[in-house]
Amino acid sequence: KAAVMDGVNVEQESSKQSPEASLAKTAFEKLQSDRKTLPIYSYREELLKAINEHQVLVIVGETGSGKTTQIPQYLHEAGYTERGKIGCTQPRRVAAMSVAARVSQEMGVKLGHEVGYSIRFEDCTSEKTILKYMTDGMLLREFLGEPDLASYSVVMVDEAHERTLSTDILFGLVKDIARFRPDLKLLISSATLDAEKFSDYFDSAPIFKIPGRRFPVEIHYTKAPEADYLDAAIVTALQIHVTQPPGDGDILVFLTGQEEIETAEETLKHRTRGLGTKIAELLICPIYANLPTELQAKIFEPTPEGARKVVLATNIAETSLTIDGIKYVIDPGFSKMKSYNPRTGMESLLVTPISKASANQRAGRSGRTGPGKCFRLYTAYNYYNDLDDNTVPEIQRTNLAHVVLALKSLGINDLLNFDFMDPPPSEALLKALELLYALSALNKHGELTKVGRRMAEFPLDPMLSKMIVASDKYQCSDEVISIAAMLSIGNSIFYRPKDKQVHADNARLNFHMGNVGDHIALLKVYSSWKETNFSTQWCYENYIQVRSMKRARDIRDQLEGLLERVEIELTSNANDLDVIKKAITSGFFPHSAKLQKNGSYRTVKHPQTVHIHPSSGLAQLLPRWVIYHELVLTTKEYMRQVTELKPEWLVEIAPHYYQLKDVEDLASKKMPRGEGRAVKD
Ligand code: ADP
Ligand code: MG
Repeated sequence: KAAVMDGVNVEQESSKQSPEASLAKTAFEKLQSDRKTLPIYSYREELLKAINEHQVLVIVGETGSGKTTQIPQYLHEAGYTERGKIGCTQPRRVAAMSVAARVSQEMGVKLGHEVGYSIRFEDCTSEKTILKYMTDGMLLREFLGEPDLASYSVVMVDEAHERTLSTDILFGLVKDIARFRPDLKLLISSATLDAEKFSDYFDSAPIFKIPGRRFPVEIHYTKAPEADYLDAAIVTALQIHVTQPPGDGDILVFLTGQEEIETAEETLKHRTRGLGTKIAELLICPIYANLPTELQAKIFEPTPEGARKVVLATNIAETSLTIDGIKYVIDPGFSKMKSYNPRTGMESLLVTPISKASANQRAGRSGRTGPGKCFRLYTAYNYYNDLDDNTVPEIQRTNLAHVVLALKSLGINDLLNFDFMDPPPSEALLKALELLYALSALNKHGELTKVGRRMAEFPLDPMLSKMIVASDKYQCSDEVISIAAMLSIGNSIFYRPKDKQVHADNARLNFHMGNVGDHIALLKVYSSWKETNFSTQWCYENYIQVRSMKRARDIRDQLEGLLERVEIELTSNANDLDVIKKAITSGFFPHSAKLQKNGSYRTVKHPQTVHIHPSSGLAQLLPRWVIYHELVLTTKEYMRQVTELKPEWLVEIAPHYYQLKDVEDLASKKMPRGEGRAVKD
């Protein structure tokens, strides 16, 4: 009990000194009384008793009942942290950060001290941390350093119903260690009623139900399918806002991603401005994975009197985050989902219809504090006949190379017999093994090689890790980790304001000078920024997002630290672009493609037609041979981040993967477009 009281005491002491602090204390007291109004509070003692009596407990309670924020605190107050940390996993980064921030406030301690979070490339914990919120992927990585999780007294696998790939793998790992660590408590918590399945898997673990308070929710469907769900969502939100009295409740709109949310935000701002002062104020609050931390807290701020809040969220608001005061939910019925073709090894993110289970979760968000309304922007017929009952677990629709490498480095060799709750397609497992073998991470017997061991140290996709490990040989690790860091940011580096598109495009072209390809262009962006001593002004002038660059720098610093761990020296070879490209090819050779007569490309190994993404610096140039970072399917199958390649490199670098006949240029002796290059340069 001591630790929590410590924190409280600090708060109280300082409150004697300054008026701000005494305000803080009032807020603190309010937080304490709020904690007692949560549905879970009345079950506190029963829950602690059940945890005390059982090693593994499945906990089910509706979203917002207090599972994530309260259970770790209850356990701490009951003394569990005297024996070790309490770890609580979240499938989403934003949820881990936001919940940790909330709990640190409730405990009156500084975030990162007693309460902290850990997400990829960002560790906000310290020696003091006893309540640790983290992404499921990070706990998976902790197994690599601490295979029995000895520093933990309790592990709570939260949001288990989300069934992310990492959560599914964690199930198998924690189930295993629970057997030889009888002192470890294991909590599996879920917002939905598929608890039986979790219980069965964990050897009939008891189920603890926290009855929620739920008000009736009125469901409305559209009469006919909507052609443009984004516009329909905006119109619906405005209609609600204009026709319903302000102050009667906020609106939550489910969209599929950042881009859509930004468009909706802009349109809403524009249209409410058009309505003038006749209507009440509408506060627009976006929330998605890459939203800067300082803006994330905004969605939780209470709506001022006379105004209304509209939250534009990805499915992060489906169960991971609870926003109080929502009365209206607008559900267009889509989310972005990964899909994977194990035959070709290709992965895409696709906007896909949600499942009935998701639709019901979304609707439920409106009935938490009073009767709610949910507007489904699809027909009742769609709902009953077209939507699947449940979302397919990620493990059955994703590339498994990364987790297979992690499991192999944990010494788990027999993957076909791993205790999966729902096994992945064996084809996908084989594909992952095949890729890791091609990358020389595994040997013929499927055992981890030295290269594989080094690769596993990096929290990156195996192809990126391989590229870094290979940079050792080419003496250009300095450049390659910058490229890896920039690739990890995604495509949020350049921006293009509507009124300055030409300037922005010109600034961007500068980095592509010499047709160096997208990877080297990213490197140039990073190095130029570094040369200006990381100047913000420089970013403005070049239409580059400072925030993204800072994140890239952070990631790069960590990769540099990891280089040391795997004993790779930091070496620079900035003037020889070919060796840098060879290092990239060492990781990405499976992603090679060759130009066709009609200007499209064909992937070399599993022939498929693809195109260079219009945003690529090589989009006009169309080199004969390229490697790409990833495929994205929009109107066509596009390669994003593309670099030109000499075909002989493929045979030189991956002789076990490519044969001469794969890279012979028979069909392309005469390449009309290839010639154009000399003119362009
Ligand atoms: P559950 O895990 O059962 O879904 P939580 O513990 O996440 O429930 O939420 C309990 C309460 O805490 C909710 O009313 C929610 O609004 C509030 N809450 C959670 N995170 C935050 C935050 N970052 N800021 C403000 N309130 C929060
Ligand atoms: Mg929760």
